[in-house]
Formats: sequence, C-alpha cells, structure tokens
Amino acid sequence: MTIIWREAVLAWNKLGVVSLTESANAPIQLGESSTPPSDLSSETGAFTHYHRDGNTITSANSQLLLNKIDKNGYTYLEKVGIAEHEIGHILGLAHSKNPRSIMSPTVVDQKISTPDINALKLIYE
Ligand SMILES: [Zn+2]
Repeated sequence: MTIIWREAVLAWNKLGVVSLTESANAPIQLGESSTPPSDLSSETGAFTHYHRDGNTITSANSQLLLNKIDKNGYTYLEKVGIAEHEIGHILGLAHSKNPRSIMSPTVVDQKISTPDINALKLIYE
C-alpha cells in the first residue's frame, strides 16, 4: 500500500468508527494504475469497484489513476483526499452535495468532515 493510501486509511481509522487493517489476503485492494477502465470518465482521478452484502464489504478494488492525477496537478493533500473519498465509497458512503464533505465529487482540498462522520456512524454504529 502506498503512502497516500496509508494516510487515507489512517484518516478514516482516526474517527474511531471503523478499523481498517492491512493484510496481504484482504478482499480490498488499494493501488495505483496508469490506465482507467474504458467506461470511465476522463475527468476522474481514481476509480473504485466494490461489492457489499448489507454492512459487510465483500470485495473492493480502488485504483488511483496516476496519469490523470499528475495531469490535473493535484497537491499531495488533494491526492490523499481522493484516496479518502474512494475509501468512503468502499465503506458505503454516497456522493454529497456539501462541498466540504470528503464525498463531494469535486476535488477541492476537502477533508473528512462532520457530515461524513455522521454518515459513517449511521452505517456502522
Ligand atoms: Zn466518488
């Protein structure tokens, strides 16, 4: 797992709602890729495919698209934000219209914020 993914996992774990741990055999893959799947919008800096059974994540694959990220000139914190956003999807969060939410579909250096924490608690507490 790269430093960007590691920081994003730490940010979600710090909230005390979920506890994600690294494992070689984990059904969740967090990686980096240079080419997006053909059905993906060219604006996107990452993609996530996941399967859930109720509150159980059965599998997920999330890849940061390095070509897109570099082309868009995102800062390091924005890259971590993209990774946090993708993990939010894996955890079951949908897009938010709140521009300060990490689940806002626009990359604007946002952080995991109160609406995100509340949404996560609704699922896991
Ligand atoms: Zn999204």
